[in-house]
Amino acid sequence: MEPSSESYYKLGKRVTLERKQILIYKKREGKELSKNEINYMIDNYINDRIPDYQMAAWAMAVYFQGMSEKEMSNLTMEMAFSGEQLDLSTIPGFIVDKHSTGGVGDKTTLVFAPLVASTGLKVAKMSGRGLGHSGGTIDKLESFQGFNTQLSMEEFVQQVKAQNLAIVGQTKQLAPADGKIYALRDVTGTVDSIPLIASSIMSKKLAAGTDAIVLDVKVGSGAFMSNLDDAIALSHEMVSIGNQLGRKTVAVVTDMDQPLGRKVGNALEVWEAIETLKGRGPEDLERLSLYLGAILLKITGKVDNIQDGRDLLNEKLQSGAAIEKLAELVRSQQGDVSAVQDPHRLPIAKSHYSIQSSKSGFVSYLDARKIGLACVNLGAGRKTKDDQIDLSVGVDLHKKIGDKVEVGDALATIYYNSAEQLTDSQSLVKDAYQISTEKDPGKQLIYGMVTAETRPGELEKLI
Ligand code: URA
Repeated sequence: MEPSSESYYKLGKRVTLERKQILIYKKREGKELSKNEINYMIDNYINDRIPDYQMAAWAMAVYFQGMSEKEMSNLTMEMAFSGEQLDLSTIPGFIVDKHSTGGVGDKTTLVFAPLVASTGLKVAKMSGRGLGHSGGTIDKLESFQGFNTQLSMEEFVQQVKAQNLAIVGQTKQLAPADGKIYALRDVTGTVDSIPLIASSIMSKKLAAGTDAIVLDVKVGSGAFMSNLDDAIALSHEMVSIGNQLGRKTVAVVTDMDQPLGRKVGNALEVWEAIETLKGRGPEDLERLSLYLGAILLKITGKVDNIQDGRDLLNEKLQSGAAIEKLAELVRSQQGDVSAVQDPHRLPIAKSHYSIQSSKSGFVSYLDARKIGLACVNLGAGRKTKDDQIDLSVGVDLHKKIGDKVEVGDALATIYYNSAEQLTDSQSLVKDAYQISTEKDPGKQLIYGMVTAETRPGELEKLI
């Protein structure tokens, strides 16, 4: 339905505007748009009846004026229903999903998904590829030679029914309005708007059809959100949208000032995830994966509290059930399952180079963004969305914040395939480290969570 025409002031004179322009003026003046008006904007934009310049002006008005909760959930619905929605209704039991706002060394999905699936919850996961300094699960999974990330809808549903777990690439038919608007925001300075980010992420989650969602909202130098208040605000908005639209949604705010785990780069991260599922992984990655899984077990009623959820997941790690679930996933999606037994079969770069410390003391800072950018220069990430990536390269971090170092100790190892890659990444890795004489405890890994009950602006502590 078209909005009715209204009068606005232009250069002090009252003017009657074209219908398309009204919504830009209305948002510019901080007024709330109705459901029909938001439908008008989105529907006309995806059908090329609103040009890019008008949508960009509207997005900029949202950037400055924000949106009410009602507007945000209407925008989310419009974008979610602009394309295909996954029909998971034939899958019995609770279907769950996890989303990370993106970071460096964030291979949590590779640990979390098999772990949670081994408890009987159904994990139907659509994931993305990496862009810029942060990686993507689909690229990582392709480190298993032959891994098929393009199952048909029928195969996807069948696999989740039979094995509780399938992970596929997100199709362009899922929330296409978000795809078109995001591309426009990317070049018009309107990405960093909390209502636009919240509705963009939640529209894809909604279209993906799951019952319960845990959101990992990263904060720090390697994350989208560099300050804690913004991360908390984004968490509240997404939790509110998810719950209003009938999905049990919880957000966890976690640190991304330093990379997660010790390995960054596609095959290296898969290697670390395998080790973690075998109970030999880095403490931060294991702890975060257990917390995210335990929250889903709690909100779907499988356990009474988060501690019981962590205990159950720990049991699955120790018994080997979780690593067996990963092997089953890789086998079912035609990947080389022998790499789960022996990660040496994953692609590994031809050469490596050690970055040594020129000081002694303690690591006081390790800049996730610089490590992420070093990996992009190595070829592990994309500068533009059509770039080919090299799965075998990356950085192994031997020292992290709080670790003691002596002069000459190896801080990190760079895995590379060409001298040019090494030159382009070496100084970034070196500069990522700061060494001080005082031991710095660093940031906490998990700041807290936001549930439907959390008071506005607050975070609940996780036990
Ligand atoms: N990720 C998304 O999917 N959308 C945004 O707007 C920002 C990050």
